[in-house]
Amino acid sequence: MTNQTHGESLLVRGARTFPPGPGARAVDVRVRDGLIEAIGAGLEAEGAEVLEADGLTIIPGLVDVHVHFRDPGLEHKEGWDHGSRGALHGGVTSVVEVQNNAPLSISREALSARLEHVRASSRVDFGCLANLLPASEGELEAMAPLTPAFKLFLGGSTGVGGQDDRETLARLFAAATAAGRMIVAHCEDEDLLREGKRSHPAATAAEHHLVRSTEAEVESVRTSIELCRETGAELHVFHLSTGEGARLVAEARAEGLSVSASTAPHYLLLDNERVAELGNIGKVNPSIKTADDAAALVRALSDGVVDAIGTDHAPHPLADKQREYSHAPSGMPSVDLLWPLTWELSRRGVMTPEAALAAVTSRAADTLHLPGKGRLTPGHDGDLVLFDPEERFVVRGAKLPSRSRWSAYEGWELAGPPRVVVRRGEVCLRDGVPTVSAGGRPLRLHPV
Ligand SMILES: [Zn+2]
Repeated sequence: MTNQTHGESLLVRGARTFPPGPGARAVDVRVRDGLIEAIGAGLEAEGAEVLEADGLTIIPGLVDVHVHFRDPGLEHKEGWDHGSRGALHGGVTSVVEVQNNAPLSISREALSARLEHVRASSRVDFGCLANLLPASEGELEAMAPLTPAFKLFLGGSTGVGGQDDRETLARLFAAATAAGRMIVAHCEDEDLLREGKRSHPAATAAEHHLVRSTEAEVESVRTSIELCRETGAELHVFHLSTGEGARLVAEARAEGLSVSASTAPHYLLLDNERVAELGNIGKVNPSIKTADDAAALVRALSDGVVDAIGTDHAPHPLADKQREYSHAPSGMPSVDLLWPLTWELSRRGVMTPEAALAAVTSRAADTLHLPGKGRLTPGHDGDLVLFDPEERFVVRGAKLPSRSRWSAYEGWELAGPPRVVVRRGEVCLRDGVPTVSAGGRPLRLHPV
């Protein structure tokens, strides 16, 4: 893992600052050995390769705090080749990956093997979460230096069953805290999930939000916050889907607890009525709730209660999604559209451009404590995205890099597809096409 330099040297000349509009100005960005060295007007190349930005707008490379590339184990569903190509397509240069299929990362040996495996085929920088389970309890300290966080499923989802025993949960929270890493949690209450299933025996995708209910998420967020209070753990709630969940997070923060949260594009841009039209394409866990929840989550992002937008990119072959509701797997792809979907929130006027950008860059990096990522600042990694904020395109799932070849946003007109993506000074995507086949490295991590 020793490299001569941190990356390449590059001068991006003649880009426009973000946000676009009357306040934007021309800017050059010079990257030296992978790190941003200078930002300003009229910079000299000083030996660096020159990339003409031709007036495209420049932003930092995106950080997706939550993807599933299912590799090793279920490569036929995605894999790092397709997954990391999709990431670049969406403007993402760093991903945090959650392995939710065997082999799980429950030992240092398994986690190390996974990091080596991913390094061979990822085009983007990556962090691999370790699983927080009774089976991994004895390995947490050994795994901590290799992972940004421990992933805990309070509610069972694709591939991993949920932990519902209060005593076991308390022990796991305490063990993660002792090992010195935060917990990232899938919050849904197992009892309430079982009850939802029982009381909706003939459910279809249109009732998914009742089967996996608001109460299931809210109760589980409440339990997790209680456990933080008891154990001193640091908690990040993944894929928040309810306004009430966001309210609990806000309360916990006001109390001084170390609680943060992210949500996903589908909880902001879709709602349960849209899911009724989409069928199983819109079946995700947690379920997509009401339009009021979506509006509350957008507000929570703007207010700083919810920190980040992570895709929870979770592809499945279309044939799997076409099974009847109860047998169709949950999850949808979207890492390949992360920037256009985020930019859409600003285009619609529901978020400021600055808040939308921060949710997928600086605040995303901060909330999972990822140093050197998500900012256009000297000393940070030279991860850059160039895009035209006015360029429109129509989403066609079949043309996206994800192996799944479908999209919940099929036919939507979005704007701002990344034209050029730079990872640590190296051009990795040009005109929407990847120019590298690997080169991603493990994310730098905070000391334990
Ligand atoms: Zn997930």
